[in-house]
Amino acid sequence: MSSETLNPVSHAQDLLETESRYLAPVLGRSSTVVVERGKGSYLWSVDERRYLDFAMGIATVNTGHGHPRVLQAAMEQMQRIVHPSATMVHYEANVRLAERLAAITPGPIDQTFFTNSGAEAVEAAVKMARYVTGRRIVVGFQGGFHGRTMGALSLTSSKVHYREGYEGFVPSTYIMPFPYATRCQLGHDCRGGCVGACATFLERQFEQVIDPYQVAAFVVEPVQGEGGYIVPPAWFLGRLRALCDQYGILLLADEVQTGFGRTGRWFASEHFGVVPDVQIMAKGIASGFPLAAISARSELMQQWPTGAHGSTFGGNPVSCAAALATIDAIEDEGMRENATRQGEAMRARLRTLRDEIPAIADVRGLGLMIGVEFSDAAGNPDGALCERVRQRCIEHGLLLLSCGYREQVLRLIPALNVSDAEADEGLTILEEAIHHEAR
Ligand code: PMP
Repeated sequence: MSSETLNPVSHAQDLLETESRYLAPVLGRSSTVVVERGKGSYLWSVDERRYLDFAMGIATVNTGHGHPRVLQAAMEQMQRIVHPSATMVHYEANVRLAERLAAITPGPIDQTFFTNSGAEAVEAAVKMARYVTGRRIVVGFQGGFHGRTMGALSLTSSKVHYREGYEGFVPSTYIMPFPYATRCQLGHDCRGGCVGACATFLERQFEQVIDPYQVAAFVVEPVQGEGGYIVPPAWFLGRLRALCDQYGILLLADEVQTGFGRTGRWFASEHFGVVPDVQIMAKGIASGFPLAAISARSELMQQWPTGAHGSTFGGNPVSCAAALATIDAIEDEGMRENATRQGEAMRARLRTLRDEIPAIADVRGLGLMIGVEFSDAAGNPDGALCERVRQRCIEHGLLLLSCGYREQVLRLIPALNVSDAEADEGLTILEEAIHHEAR
């Protein structure tokens, strides 16, 4: 039956059935909402229900759906040219964007290579680090998520399911513990404050297992995303930086999820006063247009010779135009400041709820990257409760995602320009759902 002859509910049903027939089931789906359009913080489904979107394309559409400046920039670019390929000719959008990134990335970082997705950017950064240092070992951190391609997956440990069936990871890849105070990976009770066991463990590994002079790079999310929205203690990133400086290791900051104002700064590493060697970016860079990038000091980039890596679509002009408009909008419209203010207010309100509800193990985050973690009565991660809360929120018009190794953490990732009224609307739905499910 053609979709025009169906009522909206049947249209959605028909589409879901056709989808299950023709789209590979390997892609995980976290709701059955069939979306028709979006504006700002809201999405509308084909059956004309309005949803407040606190998932924002998985932290991608930081400026809100259909931001007029982003759309206009992309459309103007599309009318001129869509894709000449930067390997064939030169054009303005990728040059201007690289120039702009040099200004907003931390410290002396000033040259950029463009690619398409977060995973591809991680691959590029690791290849660059190996090439430039001549070393093979790459170290990631437990709970990290870096993408689904084999190199990025070899560094990914947010959940074992992502690794099942793919053994034979890239050799010389090691995973070290990450300071996750709510559930210390080394078994310490860090709830009253992290005891720093991860750093001691890593330093001991360097004396017994891994030759630090063979390590090309640390790959780390300054705030872990898929692993559970985990903010490390203030010292952690600085300690990694010090080890990098001591042994000639490159610090690769995966800011795919934390970048572009999400934590209230351009990049989360700024909160820790640490300048990485390579900045890995994707998601929020272009408000939903596919684009990713790695940026580093030109002194490093100059050691990665022409042709040692490449990309057909990387830095396509439409995405770059959207990225430039995204950066302008975040800056001109005070979105980082709003993210800081709204994030603090939302966490404060959620912490009041935590004090009432024992099942809430933790409320944490930076800026508008907010995690609410659930535990069962024995203190174990309660993914089932988290999912019930999430589903009730969706039923009541609030779109949310979860994360964590048992999906026990609800993540709130509103648009950076979320208003007071929208934040209140979302939290009211969430509070009701938690009260209802976690009694
Ligand atoms: N790194 C981080 C920190 C991410 O959150 C993600 C995506 N969730 C990726 C890399 C992979 O990005 P993509 O899906 O665009 O390949």
